[in-house]
Amino acid sequence: MSEMIAKNDSCFLVRVDEIPQAGWEREVHLDDAWLGSVLGLAYVPAGFGLDVALEARKLEASVEASVRLNSRVRFDCSRCAESAELPVSLKALAIFVPEETHRIRLADADDAGEALENLLPIVDGELDMEPVVVDLLALELDLYPVCSQDCKGLCAGCGANLNREACRCDVSAVDTRFAVLAKWKNTQTVRDKG
Ligand SMILES: [Zn+2]
Ligand SMILES: [Zn+2]
Repeated sequence: MSEMIAKNDSCFLVRVDEIPQAGWEREVHLDDAWLGSVLGLAYVPAGFGLDVALEARKLEASVEASVRLNSRVRFDCSRCAESAELPVSLKALAIFVPEETHRIRLADADDAGEALENLLPIVDGELDMEPVVVDLLALELDLYPVCSQDCKGLCAGCGANLNREACRCDVSAVDTRFAVLAKWKNTQTVRDKG
């Protein structure tokens, strides 16, 4: 059932007149190169590529499509900077409507000030699920990922990783912000002299 293919131009495209009444499905495996090109800046592929399961079902003039994604990605924790991995298991539904209907709905939505989420046009008799996949990853992957919800991060004063070591800041210092400033000033002085 699963087609092991690298990204090619057609793997996300479905011709509406080729969707059987009972529904259509396709499973594809995309490589890390493709995944890396659509992941946000905070993530890199973890070496497993991306498994994509696509389904489409005709509903009169429109098509209901579902997308399921499975992968693993790697990131540097935004609190402690340690490398961590995250399993990705995401699902989205999209409705594809004839281009003209989409144009009208888009105009109506603009007037009402609302966004048309997951309503996409059928273009030249085809639906393209690539934007659904790309948007799903962009929306669901946190911009500032953390290695764990209770990650204690780095001490702003001494840089200690508070998950596994104690803060080394001098508690007699009035305020760590001043300590940092003093350190910076010392560096500047040394630089000026040099
Ligand atoms: Zn962390
Ligand atoms: Zn500290």
